[in-house]
Amino acid sequence: MIYKTDYHMHSTFSDGRSAPEDYIEPALAAGLSEIGFSEHLTLFREQEDWNMNPLNVSSYIKYLESLRDSTDNIKIRTGLEVDYFAGRENEIRDFLTPLPLDYIIGSVHYLGEKTVDVGPEFYEGKNIDNLFTSYFESVGTAVASGIFDIIGHCDLIRIYGYKPSFDQEPVYRKLARTMKRHDVVFEVNTNGRNRPLADFYPDRRFLNIFREENVPVCVNSDAHMPSRVAQYFDEAYELLRYIGFTEMAVFDKRVRHMVPF
Ligand SMILES: [Zn+2]
Ligand SMILES: [Zn+2]
Repeated sequence: MIYKTDYHMHSTFSDGRSAPEDYIEPALAAGLSEIGFSEHLTLFREQEDWNMNPLNVSSYIKYLESLRDSTDNIKIRTGLEVDYFAGRENEIRDFLTPLPLDYIIGSVHYLGEKTVDVGPEFYEGKNIDNLFTSYFESVGTAVASGIFDIIGHCDLIRIYGYKPSFDQEPVYRKLARTMKRHDVVFEVNTNGRNRPLADFYPDRRFLNIFREENVPVCVNSDAHMPSRVAQYFDEAYELLRYIGFTEMAVFDKRVRHMVPF
């Protein structure tokens, strides 16, 4: 049995539909060795119904600690999915550094005041090339900030199927090199399959670039309900093996190890 983890999951502590313990059964059924929760944490914006109130972070961490203590058939990790905002790096880091987390996923959801996954109307009347360029610039600075262990859905800007007119290969090449230089993991996020895009993040046409640049990888479902834990993982692992990946990243108290798969 190959070692599998799912580090990107949302429970009722943010916008998931079920309590953390409800994700254990499906994870065991899918043959996972570890699961990790990564609730949305969004500093510097109005609280919305999809993100966790920063005041609840310590009770979230305690809740997972006790779940971990009472669970012996699967490892339970504590993470966060933190929104990246350029120029606010020190404040984000100061908030996160004291927390006893296993890993931090950094995600770019916001371009300006709105998130790129708020709806297709976000894109209407805008210059798609500029949006893609801004999005990847923001992801690049998130990587270089050194705040994050994993970058979430690194090309979320593809969610509604919009495509830029320029050749994207150099964009992915630059991103992969930045990730390698700053020792940051990228995820194959299978949840894109459930969205209008109907495919994984990142774009599978460019996965070979991440391999060529030796960027460490992990596979995540971004499940917001127990039925989606490890969804499409067989296909994702097969895809990674086909591309030439042989190991994946696991985390314990923000220390990374590589495990063969
Ligand atoms: Zn996200
Ligand atoms: Zn997520």
